[in-house]
Amino acid sequence: QSITDYISNTIRTIPDFPKKGIQFKDITTLLQDKRALELTSYMLAQPFRNRSVDFVVGLESRGFLFGTNLAQDLNAGFVPVRKPGKLPSKTLSEMYALEYGEDHVEIHQDAIFKGAKVIIHDDLIATGGTASAASKLIKRLGGEIVGYSFIIELSFLNGRDQLVQNVPIESIVIE
Ligand code: 5GP
Repeated sequence: QSITDYISNTIRTIPDFPKKGIQFKDITTLLQDKRALELTSYMLAQPFRNRSVDFVVGLESRGFLFGTNLAQDLNAGFVPVRKPGKLPSKTLSEMYALEYGEDHVEIHQDAIFKGAKVIIHDDLIATGGTASAASKLIKRLGGEIVGYSFIIELSFLNGRDQLVQNVPIESIVIE
């Protein structure tokens, strides 16, 4: 059994959550499994080892779970991107479209320096809307996106087409 299969088998699918028709990938069962927890950390860092990275940007909230650990493994700092109204200091905001309506993500204005090399991390990429909005925030601050990191990629939603092109997108489990 491969490492990827081991990790994949610890992720459960919950039908009709948070609403009817959605097959929700639940990673709490991955987090619970000490071997999967360790292997996931290892696999997230692996593609970016020996790369120069200044910040890992983690997306609220499941992007925080492995994001700080990934930052430490890559000898980088960690920066949170959050839902509106959560960050205490001055923020930049980006809107993105949902199936019905819109949402925003925010970053602290002083979170990254101009020219910083940044990896965006989240637990899962679906339509790519969240990671795309986060990418815009980083570009507005003058950062350079050098990679994307996900545990799960729902490839049938083509989320990667929304991301900055010609940047490595590393997903452990591709569905
Ligand atoms: P997107 O913006 O790519 O459509 O959606 C990705 C965001 O929604 C991520 O922040 C992710 O945590 C959350 N998300 C969407 N669907 C799922 C899912 O099935 N499982 C988990 N764990 N997160 C999801």
